[in-house]
Amino acid sequence: MPTISAGALKRMLHLPANVVIGTPRIERDRTGRETVVVPVRPYARDTGRCAECGGHGRPYDRLPTRRWRHLDIGCARLFLEYAPRRVACAGHGVTVAMVPWARRKSAYTYDFEQQVAWLSVHAPRSAVSALTRVDWKSVGPICRRVADDLRAEQGAGLFDHLRSIGVDETSYRKGHKYMTVVVDHDRGRVVWMHPGHGEKVFDLFFQQLTPAQRASIQVITGDGARWIDECAFRWCPQAERILDGFHIVSWATDALDKVRTAAWREARKAGTTRKGAKDPIKGARWALLKNEGDLTAGQKAQLECVANTNETLWEAYKLKERLRMILKQTADEAAPMLRQWAVDAFLSGIPGFVPLGEKIARRHFDILTTIRSGLSNARLEAINNKIKTTIKIGYGYRNLDNLISLVMLKCGGLDLQLPGRQ
Ligand SMILES: [Zn+2]
Repeated sequence: MPTISAGALKRMLHLPANVVIGTPRIERDRTGRETVVVPVRPYARDTGRCAECGGHGRPYDRLPTRRWRHLDIGCARLFLEYAPRRVACAGHGVTVAMVPWARRKSAYTYDFEQQVAWLSVHAPRSAVSALTRVDWKSVGPICRRVADDLRAEQGAGLFDHLRSIGVDETSYRKGHKYMTVVVDHDRGRVVWMHPGHGEKVFDLFFQQLTPAQRASIQVITGDGARWIDECAFRWCPQAERILDGFHIVSWATDALDKVRTAAWREARKAGTTRKGAKDPIKGARWALLKNEGDLTAGQKAQLECVANTNETLWEAYKLKERLRMILKQTADEAAPMLRQWAVDAFLSGIPGFVPLGEKIARRHFDILTTIRSGLSNARLEAINNKIKTTIKIGYGYRNLDNLISLVMLKCGGLDLQLPGRQ
């Protein structure tokens, strides 16, 4: 029977060149599942490297044998096994020596972590856990280690040649905890994220940029909050500050959602719908908030139902859609339409839309500037939705940095490949 040489096995397992492998063995765990254990060790010249700086340290002692999970072989789990050394480094004291197959303080190999990170970006969390047999809570720290490394390799360029950026605050947990997100409009990706919001947090972003990087920024978009303007003015006085179209539309969708909630409560109080029964107004939420062009057949039917049963809600919906369409016109076409919209909203008497009419009138010229800027609202909306969905996926993460890493992996334009495919 032909046997596989150690060298061939090493290549099949995609292990680094400076690793020596021993004879694999098969073990059974308590549940009777088979696992493959491959003894490994680094080349002699690489056994005593400090984990902090990679320099040679003085041998200190040897720790008990431990295992690192590697890519599965067939259906079985595969572990690398090694008793790591500790070394005394002149600069860093006693540390566990570096191993060529895994990151510091990780129980998984580089390849395994890369595969898990790739999967978390492309598959739902249930699929990630089922396929990798790793609990979702452990996936967070893996994503963080991979994202940190990728950012260290590729991340410096994220801040280069920024031309137009957008800043937004996104809630990441119920109870209104906020995170500040900075997006590169030209490349449609997230460049920076930080817990908290307000001027001090936005300052942190600019502090990371070099003067040249700050000088390249020409446009800063946001929801029109004063702290954004003030901060932008302090760090990038040359940049034009623009309200983004996405937020203008969201003023109307927020107002619309309040009208819908009120209508639904009213209907329940009047006893026209029983608790628990399928209520057309409550069910129409997504149909109402979605862009008209994106509706499914079912949602179109729901809207028709709203049109026939609730005049106020239908009126509010039409106002929202009209505002969205106005933003797609040229500035010259939009100007009179916008004025008319503000008047109609104000006169509609619909709660929420009356003050919105005033707001639109007040921000008339700002909105025209938004339209002139030519920034695509659809693109803004797309990246914003992507961030929000990713945040929902990451809800199970206890650690906020892990959540940020997942968003950066998914929306940050980092080049994340499957192991061995680069
Ligand atoms: Zn060191």
